[in-house]
Amino acid sequence: MDLQTVRTNLENKGYRVSCFSDAAAAAVYLNAQIDGKTVGIGGSMTAEEMGLYDSLREHNTVYWHWRAGEGQTPDELRAAAVGAEEYISSVNGLAGTGEIVNIDGSGNRVASTIYGHKKVWLLVGKNKLAPDLEGAIDRARNIAAPKNARRLGLQTPCAEKGDKCYDCKSPARICRALSVFWTSPRGSEYEVVLIGEDLGY
Ligand code: SF4
Repeated sequence: MDLQTVRTNLENKGYRVSCFSDAAAAAVYLNAQIDGKTVGIGGSMTAEEMGLYDSLREHNTVYWHWRAGEGQTPDELRAAAVGAEEYISSVNGLAGTGEIVNIDGSGNRVASTIYGHKKVWLLVGKNKLAPDLEGAIDRARNIAAPKNARRLGLQTPCAEKGDKCYDCKSPARICRALSVFWTSPRGSEYEVVLIGEDLGY
């Protein structure tokens, strides 16, 4: 499915959509749009690869549990991010038909993308696209989650074998909550940032 069709399907579900050919252009746009704000970021390799924390914190107050400074804990930063005006997350799967899928371990990312912020930005590299909702859930479970488990060096079967989800009972399991946005939730403004290169998992 071409990106223009995906864009139309997202707009029909209430999302504002912006499209960029690469991550650098998307980062410039985000820095122009988000200025003088408090910003929370969910766990996101896409945000990491885009260098968003470093660029945004030059002109915003940014809370990211992946960047705990001296005297800060990741839990404190997760809690601070809950109260931020704007929230940035990537997604684990985007259906071409417009549904958005995320899997979470702590729940902070799933919770914050659903409720509590004035604006939510959802970053999507083209590798996150699947034809439909079933495909997006399959991608989130069998591609994104095992890659994240492997990145974290967890003792889970998916991290060890790296091929698919085993629906494990491991204490280290990172897949504990699943969100599906059938359409944009009420209460926040949503903007999906579609980026024409592979980003994150
Ligand atoms: S449920 Fe377990 S096996 Fe499946 S992807 Fe998550 S951590 Fe890996």
